[in-house]
Amino acid sequence: MALIHNLGFPRIGAKRELKFAQEAFWKGDASADQLLATAADIRSGNWQLQQALDLVPVGDFSLYDQVLDMSFTLGNLPKRVAGLAGSELDNYFRLARGRSANDSACNCIHAGEMTKWFDTNYHYIVPEVTAETAFSLNPERLLSQFAEARQQGVHAKPVIIGPVTYLWLCKEKDNSNRLDLLDKLLPLYSALLEQLADAGAEWVQIDEPALVTDLDASWKHAFEVAYHTLKANRPRLLLATYFGTLQDNLQLACNLPVAGLHIDAVRGREEVGKVVDWLPAHKVLSVGAIDGRNIWKTDLNTTLDWLEPVAAKLGERLWVAPSCSLLHVPVDLESELALDREIVNWLAFAKQKLIELQVLGTALNLGRAAVAAELTANRVAIKLRKESARVHNPAVKNAVSTLAPELGQRKSHYTARALKQRSQLNLPLYPTTTIGSFPQTADIRKARLGFRKQEITAAEYDACMKAEIESSVREQEALGLDVLVHGEAERNDMVEYFGEQLDGYAFSQFGWVQSYGSRCVKPPILFGDISRPKAMTVDWIKYAQSLTDKPMKGMLTGPVTILNWSFVRDDQPRRDTCLQLALAIRNEVLDLEAAGVNIIQIDEAALREGLPLRRSEWQGYLDWAVESFRITANGVKDETQIHTHMCYSEFNDIIEAIAHMDADVITIETSRSDMELLDVFEEFAYPNEIGPGVYDIHSPNIPSQEQIVKLMAKAAERIPAERLWVNPDCGLKTRQWPEVLPALNNMVAAAKTLRETAIS
Ligand code: GLN
Ligand code: ZN
Repeated sequence: MALIHNLGFPRIGAKRELKFAQEAFWKGDASADQLLATAADIRSGNWQLQQALDLVPVGDFSLYDQVLDMSFTLGNLPKRVAGLAGSELDNYFRLARGRSANDSACNCIHAGEMTKWFDTNYHYIVPEVTAETAFSLNPERLLSQFAEARQQGVHAKPVIIGPVTYLWLCKEKDNSNRLDLLDKLLPLYSALLEQLADAGAEWVQIDEPALVTDLDASWKHAFEVAYHTLKANRPRLLLATYFGTLQDNLQLACNLPVAGLHIDAVRGREEVGKVVDWLPAHKVLSVGAIDGRNIWKTDLNTTLDWLEPVAAKLGERLWVAPSCSLLHVPVDLESELALDREIVNWLAFAKQKLIELQVLGTALNLGRAAVAAELTANRVAIKLRKESARVHNPAVKNAVSTLAPELGQRKSHYTARALKQRSQLNLPLYPTTTIGSFPQTADIRKARLGFRKQEITAAEYDACMKAEIESSVREQEALGLDVLVHGEAERNDMVEYFGEQLDGYAFSQFGWVQSYGSRCVKPPILFGDISRPKAMTVDWIKYAQSLTDKPMKGMLTGPVTILNWSFVRDDQPRRDTCLQLALAIRNEVLDLEAAGVNIIQIDEAALREGLPLRRSEWQGYLDWAVESFRITANGVKDETQIHTHMCYSEFNDIIEAIAHMDADVITIETSRSDMELLDVFEEFAYPNEIGPGVYDIHSPNIPSQEQIVKLMAKAAERIPAERLWVNPDCGLKTRQWPEVLPALNNMVAAAKTLRETAIS
């Protein structure tokens, strides 16, 4: 009998219940008990949905982030939260976001750095370590959730992040080597496993996704040391790898002394056979056969074609699961009543994936005949999608296959363009700007909702957005910013907004996926060939420009980011889809230019996160990603200034590709790292202009003028002042005006100070 299980379930709730509870708690509108009660409800709801599985993940729930949870479990907290007033929960949120409920601005702290979880759009709080780091076990969260699950009759399988991946995710705050901490860490893991065994856990899922990355000998050795130590403990360990193939770590993974191995058979189908051959005969093999990263229905019949022989070989030793935690897909397709029925029939969200899993399990255990109706329906759905006329547009396919190479080439070199742009725009040294969005106020959300529900007319909605644009323009003028933005009030989301206006896209109503903490995104569904029926942003930008003499930036999302933040089709290479998007956005760029917009920002917030986990695959990705950006951006005349924005600046390895994009200005995220991320510019002379972020927009804290001057002074050590811009880390939509105004005021004042110092 093959066993079916799951690796993790979305924890935000089908209607984002967790988000609303978190935010109410932070605002002081709800008590900690109320927040915890909502959390318990979500957990129990999730477990009910997974009732039919043989093993259900427990401990995958998190109040903010599973890596931060693990840091608390291991007692790895930075010194700056020691001795602060309040509960453990307060410290938890302080590390997550700089402050907890009721913290005043003065007892806020520097939040932990946030970084993308492998190649996903989920962000975790980076654990900090030094040579002195001491761990202490705090198993309470895990034990109590385990007890809670058992009380509810759940076949619970605790989930933890394994010791090597935990260290792999850590960042040293001194010059030590985090791997040296392994010896200190392992006794805690042993103790934790024993306590879980005492509590009744037979299996523990120990996540080690670091095994799908390039590991040097010291990391490989760490795996040996860790698992040879932990094998003495009682629970059986399912070592879970996901997000890719094992490649040169395959033998290592197969031979570690654990009871079972989970592999990602969606991205690594070709490795299944090898793993079956290598895996010692006493071990369980868990095969991740359902895509945990995308929303298409699994082709169940084809999956069974390759899974059945594996089942025949492994018998009881075969487990079947999604490829990774379902954290990365929305909860329930059944809520999508407004979504086109033809398209709904092609999709599966988390809940539907669990049903697919059951069908696979039944087919393997009782034969296909036992689920004949389900398999037939699935075959029909897969065929309908493949043949749908809505998926295929020959003109678009043709445009991509006949792309002329000069499309991506600016007319002149940056130095010549910069001269023309400077004389046209007349900007001061250290020009100030923002990244695009301003706070999405309750009024804006209300108008959007009202419009969607047809409670207000298009004209009323328009007027409301225009009023928002006008007031943000006035605020920016009053602040004295140099390059203005329209504020993106009309955009629900920087990708969905474009998805809604492009052909080839569908969008869900409740398809939320957690991005970080309470922040969720609703990736649109790119199902077919992409084209742009008409201009998407021109009217709004023209309106905003008409209100002011200051330059107004046109604001677009770039093709690579649209691709990386959408659920994209799996029936053609990502490259082809990206080039289709590039052509569509290029037309928008040209329309903006024709409408007299002199500065156009094309956000590529997600370019880096699309980087494959394996270095050997980087160049292939960068080639088409950069080419797509160039096709989008570089058709403009010299006088038009192209900006791009990226929500990170760990460019060390891809700086040449970034430079090759040839944007006139890039704005990047640097403030949390104290400009440390600019080190790369010491070795690589980045040729164009840069705005290193000086305002951490993920935290409610307000940077002082002095802090900003200091940050910029650090930046000026690496990049000549003539090529520096002053701006926040990212867009301000998640912040409140009362935080944004003083912060930007300090930013503008800092720029003035910097100019004066530069002149004197
Ligand atoms: N222009 C976008 C904004 O300001 C950029 C957001 C992002 O980089 N994530 O909201
Ligand atoms: Zn950003």
